[in-house]
Amino acid sequence: MKIIFLGTGGGRFSAISQRKMTGGFRLDNLGGKNYHVDPGPGALVRTYQFGLDPRNINGVFVSHSHTDHYNDAEILIEAMTKGMTESKGYIVGAKSVIDGYKHWGPCISKYHKSKSKIMPLNVNESRKMDACTIKATPTRHGDPLGIGFQIDYKGFKISYTSDTSYFTRLPEAHKGAHILIGSVLRPGAKSIKGHMCSNTFIELIREVKPKLAIITHMGLKMTNNHIHEAKRVSKESGVKTLAAFDGMSLNVNFRNPDRSRIYTLKDVNNPSHSSIRKLSNFERKHTHNLSSKYR
Ligand SMILES: [Zn+2]
Ligand SMILES: [Zn+2]
Repeated sequence: MKIIFLGTGGGRFSAISQRKMTGGFRLDNLGGKNYHVDPGPGALVRTYQFGLDPRNINGVFVSHSHTDHYNDAEILIEAMTKGMTESKGYIVGAKSVIDGYKHWGPCISKYHKSKSKIMPLNVNESRKMDACTIKATPTRHGDPLGIGFQIDYKGFKISYTSDTSYFTRLPEAHKGAHILIGSVLRPGAKSIKGHMCSNTFIELIREVKPKLAIITHMGLKMTNNHIHEAKRVSKESGVKTLAAFDGMSLNVNFRNPDRSRIYTLKDVNNPSHSSIRKLSNFERKHTHNLSSKYR
């Protein structure tokens, strides 16, 4: 199973400027299926840019009604269903995303919901999907019905906070996670309403105690210091923590998630610079450049 990051930028300014990509991430080969989570602006293009095929997904997950999370959902649904000609896959998301709530959403049209199994989730609701169980985790963010996801595959749990500030019930919702993926918009203690910063992510990691933590959905204030922040988070939380990068593929080691291998996917737009930033020591130790064969 691989977790593939097609965008590690977050917030409207990362999205508008594209100084960091905003395509969300894919869970590939999870029980033989592929899922795209929070496909923000560029998700379709980034899929091709890193050598993947949008047609082989089996589900689209959207956590809440902000464009940096839902923008490319409909075109990926079209890819999944062969241009809306086949019934296929799942659309999983917050109720606001699927059905609309007050001035939030719906983010997916009735037409695009017509060929897939639709799974609107309330906070704390769990549903079976293929070989997994999906639990909706709570958030404190702009969209009042926004959720995160905890995906349980045969007892192995991957948790994704989505956009949320830290609050007392958050750790409990992500308990048991082997890998914890956090939307961490800002470094240090520079928390803004509705978002975590590195320091609140440290608090969350200390409570959840995952085997591996990953920082993604970084705002522009995290552009140059994210590797330093990940090192600091690792040190202060006691849990190995990575700052994800655009085009990062994590080959998950189910037994020892902290020993998962990191691959840098070849960037077809920039083949000579497949790695767009310097790697941390941990990453260097575990990183392998990928030949085109892999793709
Ligand atoms: Zn966001
Ligand atoms: Zn948001």
